[in-house]
Amino acid sequence: MAYQPQVIDAKIVSHNPKNGLFEIVAQLKDRTVCRVIYETDASGKPVPTHINRLLKEPCPICRKDFLCNCMTKFKDDISAQALDKAGAPTA
Ligand SMILES: [Zn+2]
Repeated sequence: MAYQPQVIDAKIVSHNPKNGLFEIVAQLKDRTVCRVIYETDASGKPVPTHINRLLKEPCPICRKDFLCNCMTKFKDDISAQALDKAGAPTA
């Protein structure tokens, strides 16, 4: 029953060059949309810190249509795919 998120589209929606924080909105194949927040570590590598599911579709895991924390388990997977698609922002 393992959920396998598949990012089909991702784009950077905000970026603060001053503190290195940026956000990517990622669309998943099952129509889930997530917002991933990254910070940039000392070596310039993006590190995902938070993931939120946007409430456009019920959660693909628990089927709730309100806030849940299911996506947190997949933060690393989704954030890596999202970064692949959207790229890291250039300062
Ligand atoms: Zn859920």
